[in-house]
Amino acid sequence: AKQAGKGCYEVFDTTMHLQTVTRLQLDTDLRHAIERQEFELYYQPICDAQTRELVGLEALVRWRHPSQGMIPPSRFIPIAEETGLIVRIGQWVLEQACKQLAEWRSQFPHMAHLTVSVNLSSRQLLQVNLLEQIHQILDRTGLPPDCLNLEVTENPVMQDIKIAGAKLRHLRNMGIQLSIDDFGTGYSSLSYLQRLPFSTLKIDRMFVQQATHQMESWDIAKTIILLGHRLGMTVVAEGVETEEQARLLQNLGCEYLQGFLLADPMNSGAIADLLRLSL
Ligand code: C2E
Ligand code: CA
Ligand code: CA
Ligand code: CA
Repeated sequence: AKQAGKGCYEVFDTTMHLQTVTRLQLDTDLRHAIERQEFELYYQPICDAQTRELVGLEALVRWRHPSQGMIPPSRFIPIAEETGLIVRIGQWVLEQACKQLAEWRSQFPHMAHLTVSVNLSSRQLLQVNLLEQIHQILDRTGLPPDCLNLEVTENPVMQDIKIAGAKLRHLRNMGIQLSIDDFGTGYSSLSYLQRLPFSTLKIDRMFVQQATHQMESWDIAKTIILLGHRLGMTVVAEGVETEEQARLLQNLGCEYLQGFLLADPMNSGAIADLLRLSL
């Protein structure tokens, strides 16, 4: 038993060591990834639940690592958040997404209503020059502010409600749309939520995906949609993978759908093809 115990520790130590090395290596590589142009934006369609027409695109960052291939955001965004690199990465994402949509708008004038959604991390929300940065990016790219939708999750907003609230109101006054992302997974105070200027609520995919199996989750999804509407927001359901989910959500009055059923996140070439087709 003693030996097995020792063996376990050795395995554990080796794994920990490997994880630390990989993390350090990723952290180092991440520092050069912008200048080496290793980031790329993918875009996932957001569609009208009734007509299934394309209304928006969510920008999702990808890292093409020179030796490790595509690294998903779930592996490097948390590291970037911890080290503060997210501020530079986030700025790159915002600029790239605005530039891209401005280009598509002039290339495909029939798509003038299209919006681009960009994820904003908690570090960015607390960043002192965020508003100035966004002003500059909109100026440089010429993108109308109402074509930009910023997605933030509940926790950072609630953690520093004074700072976050003032910034969100300023952004809303500029005409930028705001979404509360992954709704239902964090902690929100409903009275604060009511006072914050969110235009859209995104139901986390957990509720959508469990909903087909559990009546309970379905009730939660239903309640979230009602709550969103009560607070004057439109509702987007994330992670819609089946026709059954889409129909149920549509029947509950959810306005927009996003998920593999409608479309995967795609590179900009594939999105341009899609926009050309929908002419
Ligand atoms: P998120 O904002 O909730 O983005 C949606 C995630 O769900 C994306 O994962 C998308 O590929 C995935 N997804 C879409 N449809 C489906 C579906 O039908 N089923 C399932 N199972 N998944 C679906 P992705 O691209 O790996 O991004 C993961 C997270 O990383 C994002 O979650 C977001 O929190 C973060 N992220 C991505 N890009 C950025 C960025 O530019 N900045 C910041 N701060 N965070 C980002
Ligand atoms: Ca999001
Ligand atoms: Ca989300
Ligand atoms: Ca999520």
